[in-house]
Amino acid sequence: MERIYIGLGSNLADPAEQLRSAITALGQLPKTSLAGVSAFYQSDSLLPGQPRYTNAVAALDSSLAPIELLDALQAIENDQGRERLERWGPRTLDLDILLFGDRLIDEPRLKVPHYQIQERAFVLYPLAELAPPDLRLADGRTLPALLAACPFVGLERLP
Ligand code: ATP
Ligand code: CA
Ligand code: CA
Repeated sequence: MERIYIGLGSNLADPAEQLRSAITALGQLPKTSLAGVSAFYQSDSLLPGQPRYTNAVAALDSSLAPIELLDALQAIENDQGRERLERWGPRTLDLDILLFGDRLIDEPRLKVPHYQIQERAFVLYPLAELAPPDLRLADGRTLPALLAACPFVGLERLP
């Protein structure tokens, strides 16, 4: 079993409902249990002209292999109507593997820790709700250091 953190995002077709459906689907994955879910957060799109995003982070305990999990996440995205028209386009559902146990993964289809974790308040603050406060990433960076370098700006934590 390894502890895995998944970033969830949506900005189309009732984003909060998309996240709730995805969380249910994550809890039904084989060899996997849902260990926690953060609050939902809203923020403006990083690209202009898109609807606001709703984001959250889920913690999983799983014995799936990383690529098996990626395949399963992409199947959930597809089930929820994800269309891949343009990079960073609006989407019904995005599921990113943020952290996978202590692993450093650098494969064509999968980079872990997620390459932009340090840039994204909408990932780091929900992650901090679930992770141990002194969490150290596989690459040696710590969650407190990442949070200190990424202000809580433009985020709205939903009740
Ligand atoms: P970003 O990666 O900047 O968050 P995005 O989530 O919109 O953008 P996608 O179109 O969802 O990007 O994914 C593009 C590809 O990224 C996927 O097909 C997948 O193979 C790859 N990928 C690499 N690392 C990861 C990861 N840690 N989690 C999910 N997908 C990843
Ligand atoms: Ca993403
Ligand atoms: Ca993605």
